[in-house]
Amino acid sequence: MDNLFPLLFFLLGLIFGSFFNVIGLRVPHKQSFTYNRSICPKCKQQLSWYELIPVLSYIFQQGKCHNCKMTISPLYPSVELGTGLIFALCYVKTGLDLELVTAWLFVSLLVIIFVSDIKFMLIPNRILLFFFPLFVIARIIRPLDPWWSSITGMLAGVMIIAIIIVISRGGMGAGDMKLFGLLGIVLGFEKTLLTLFLSCVIGAIIGLILLLLEVIDRKQPVPFGPYIVIAAVIAYFQGDFLLNWYFHNLF
Ligand SMILES: [Zn+2]
Repeated sequence: MDNLFPLLFFLLGLIFGSFFNVIGLRVPHKQSFTYNRSICPKCKQQLSWYELIPVLSYIFQQGKCHNCKMTISPLYPSVELGTGLIFALCYVKTGLDLELVTAWLFVSLLVIIFVSDIKFMLIPNRILLFFFPLFVIARIIRPLDPWWSSITGMLAGVMIIAIIIVISRGGMGAGDMKLFGLLGIVLGFEKTLLTLFLSCVIGAIIGLILLLLEVIDRKQPVPFGPYIVIAAVIAYFQGDFLLNWYFHNLF
């Protein structure tokens, strides 16, 4: 049975991933995401049940709406697949433990932010406000060592980004600042700093690649949220390893 859990949680993640796509796309527009069935954004055709199956529907339809043949963004199946993999990885990291719930909540927030920031350059307050109390409760039930690392992590995240906002005059937004505050609660002080560092490195590398490939041009504003998301996932899963390596090799 134990061997089935990763597969089971992968499938669970696929389903949640398709739900997170919907939330990430609709919350910034203040649309309801619970009652309406999804529609094709071009021809407004309501999607039939088999078009709602994560990943597989995209493959079977060869990435096109079956009605109007509009190309469906590969972002959606990628997010579904990514969520499936990360949900399974959470189990591999924590086992059947209360921390598994925290891990799932944490990556759920990150996936939703990833979608809405890529699509709209927005980190919606409603999403942050939804997860904030959940993270606080999760860290009261299963505190970090030391417990106050959640508080220093949150403060450090908010204050450092606030300073960056002032210095860079708009390089980062208030959404990034609030997001870092939330990440700090779950990650604690050291891994929050690690996330900040990694997001800058990842942002610089991917930004440079996108510039060289001429996907973006120099003046185009780029959402920073996706880099924070990737960095936070690395910090959560491999933060101890990276921090140990850093302190052993450099001090
Ligand atoms: Zn269509």
